Amino acid sequence: MSKQDYEVVIGLEVHSELSTKTKIFCSCPTQFGAAPNTQVCPICMAMPGTLPMLNEKVVEYAVKAGIATNCEISRDSKNDRKNYFYPDLPKAYQISQYDKPLCQNGYIEIEVNNEIKKIGITRIHIEEDSGKLNHDELAQGSLVDLNRAGVPLIEIVSEPDLRSSKEAEAYLKKLKSILEYIEVSDCKMQEGSFRADVNVSVRKKGAKELGTRTEMKNMNSFRSIARGIEYEIERQIDVLENGGKVEQETLRWDDVSGKTFSMRDKEDAQDYRYFPEPDLVAIKLSEEYIENIKNNLPEMPESRRKRYLEEYNLSPKDAKILTSSKYLSELFEKAIKVCNNPKAVNNFIISDISRILNETELDPIEIPFDAKQLGKLVILVDKGTISSSIAKKVLEELFQNPRDPEEIVKEKGWIQISDEGAIKEVVQNVLEANPQSIQDYKAGKDRALGFLVGQAMKQTKGKANPQLLNKLFLEELKK
Ligand code: ADP
Ligand code: ZN
Ligand code: MG
Repeated sequence: MSKQDYEVVIGLEVHSELSTKTKIFCSCPTQFGAAPNTQVCPICMAMPGTLPMLNEKVVEYAVKAGIATNCEISRDSKNDRKNYFYPDLPKAYQISQYDKPLCQNGYIEIEVNNEIKKIGITRIHIEEDSGKLNHDELAQGSLVDLNRAGVPLIEIVSEPDLRSSKEAEAYLKKLKSILEYIEVSDCKMQEGSFRADVNVSVRKKGAKELGTRTEMKNMNSFRSIARGIEYEIERQIDVLENGGKVEQETLRWDDVSGKTFSMRDKEDAQDYRYFPEPDLVAIKLSEEYIENIKNNLPEMPESRRKRYLEEYNLSPKDAKILTSSKYLSELFEKAIKVCNNPKAVNNFIISDISRILNETELDPIEIPFDAKQLGKLVILVDKGTISSSIAKKVLEELFQNPRDPEEIVKEKGWIQISDEGAIKEVVQNVLEANPQSIQDYKAGKDRALGFLVGQAMKQTKGKANPQLLNKLFLEELKK
């Protein structure tokens, strides 16, 4: 048998940190990157005798996420204790939800190879994040930072409905975009506020039962997730083809070697000795409460996309790319307010900005310059101060060291030459140096004009006004 005889099955558990101002059970701040153990209190440090108090915003955000992913919202829900010991979890249990999650039975739609597919969402529940261990080489040990302990999370568990790494990636991107749109999480993957446990199994095509799965923990880059899945598929098929059995285990993906390593045997729910959290009351939601959240959801990608088609006359493909990320679409809308040229802003985002994001693996939210700077760049092109090829260089500069585009252009001496006398001189020089091209042009080879313009651009380091160049060359050539 070969790879083609197997079907791949993937299910994802996504942990997303909610962007509430305070933690889930105390009023400590949740800001990322603060000095270790500066955002802690007796509650999130698990001092004996302290009691948790549920942050109402956490429930609201989770319900929002549930509604946006077509879930049923539980009117009657509760918290449970999940018991396990780890140094970054000082209580020795995590407050989570077990049998009564806030949201269940939803789905989101993904598009892969021009086909729309529904991916089931089993559940969304709320829980607290753990602290972090910093492995310190010098101290030759590990240091515990509890700033993250008690940061609110939602865990979004998918059905095992995904059939390829491509579908898994599409699902994650769609889910991330939804959470960003409803403003419940900033989903910064590098900061761990959007991370996935990736469950993979394979089975013979046509088989009814699912194969044994392995689970790669805490993955936070699309590229690693895709590589990890591909690796696991190959590995598992190999095991089966050699007469072996896939072990159900928890794996660690190593980006450097491109391999998975076993962390531990898979634990079952019973290992966690779940029981209802005795220090918190049940969560009862009224119809009115849920309706109110439903009616106040912000504009979602689909309706924004339709609006872009009508309002800005964009192509369907462009409108889809722009609205795929809330940050990109906001960059677009805010830049238009500055320069009033939707087409030009769209072109910058679709081509150059998207390309740079791809190359640098940056997330749109990490774009270092702001909409005002992008809008001003468009204005510089529109006014003829710089050419469009110089504009590309300014954009690169904005990614490197964001500042006022006008300042960049002045500092670099990139202002476009639109002075007719100066350009005429360049045109003369180029013509004198290229008599063959003149003959070619006169013999009907239009390409020769492009070559001449290119030469003039080279001489002026891209600063000559291209329309003016074209015009002056044509005048000379027709003499
Ligand atoms: P946990 O991993 O915490 O025990 P679950 O048993 O609910 O939780 O399953 C977690 C995830 O694994 C879900 O996203 C589910 O879709 C997925 N999953 C379950 N069985 C398989 C399988 N055989 N192959 C791939 N994914 C699976
Ligand atoms: Zn605290
Ligand atoms: Mg799991």
